[in-house]
Amino acid sequence: MKTKRIPIPSPAPGHERFLTVHEFGQGEHKAYLQAGLHADEWPGMLALQHLMERLIALEADGQLTQRIVLVPYANPIGLNQRLFGKFPGRFDAVTGQNFNRGMAIDSDDLIDRVRSELSDDGEANDRIVRATLRQMVEEQSPAYEIEWLHRTLLGLSLDATVMLDLHCDYDAMPHVFYGDHQRDQGARLGDCLGFPIRLEEDVRGVVAFDGTHTQPWVCLSEATGKPFSRPCFAATLELRGQYDVSDDLARRDAEGILAFLESEGFVRDSGAEHQPPSGLTRAINVDQVKVIPATANGLVTYHKELGSRVETGDHLADIVVLDADGPKRLAVTAPTGGVFFSRTHSHLVYPGASLGMIASDERHIEPGQQLSFR
Ligand SMILES: [Zn+2]
Repeated sequence: MKTKRIPIPSPAPGHERFLTVHEFGQGEHKAYLQAGLHADEWPGMLALQHLMERLIALEADGQLTQRIVLVPYANPIGLNQRLFGKFPGRFDAVTGQNFNRGMAIDSDDLIDRVRSELSDDGEANDRIVRATLRQMVEEQSPAYEIEWLHRTLLGLSLDATVMLDLHCDYDAMPHVFYGDHQRDQGARLGDCLGFPIRLEEDVRGVVAFDGTHTQPWVCLSEATGKPFSRPCFAATLELRGQYDVSDDLARRDAEGILAFLESEGFVRDSGAEHQPPSGLTRAINVDQVKVIPATANGLVTYHKELGSRVETGDHLADIVVLDADGPKRLAVTAPTGGVFFSRTHSHLVYPGASLGMIASDERHIEPGQQLSFR
């Protein structure tokens, strides 16, 4: 393992920040993993610590067959956003920007740069595209600190063959997002992790960090019709809820990730096994996720457990109204059928607040707009 520190320009007099980066193995292909891009999401940070221990041992045994890069905390800016004992780590306090949005590469520019160089040799095409992507990141001229952070992370990750971005939800079943053009790899990843909910997205629309890695390849392929040997596979892993931080869960997730890396040819004979599925497997397009908004303020109590199959009209929750003249509850019913897989842990809700999500049978939002909510 080689460890390096990459500085991010100082945000204020007397301060310095840096990313810590661990690199393992050698080879043409790189697997890149990061945790905590949303700085208030900690289960992935612990999972990478367990994975690191396994990779150190495997490297010593000569079992790494390609490069693996770990960024154990991807957002030192957010880690320092402490406000009265809370960690508002999802948005940058300076710009208001979601740390996991707004870094997409200009695919039209990429197409213009490489179109005339591409041939019928997929491996050669891959190399041209990866070199150009690196060049495009290098040419970025950040101003805000969040832009420096994004440029630095993309400088490490954008030429990867496999990219896994570790997040978590508020209170949720483990689930995974990946492009709907990479269904087989995504399903294999879900199987390795034992994650039952798989959300497949069209990466040609608004993208997060994962889609930033896959969108250029999809756009290039559509625009040029040229072959590519091994475009980047990228996924966002949602490691349950924010409070699900335990060595037991983290060890399991690390083993699942390692099993996937082995299936992708980055390591051999790791002994990592597929993790047992933690619920009924359901793979849907992310457009079929139904977000359930609160229609009143009060305290929410749930009548359905995570992982429950619900039908339209089922009694899902109550909102306990605190400022009525007496005891009062408003029933919240399921607006659609499916698996209730995510809910809030911030129980004092208000109109518009999300009460949870159902992985449903029907489409609820326009394709490509799945990540336009912040
Ligand atoms: Zn997140």
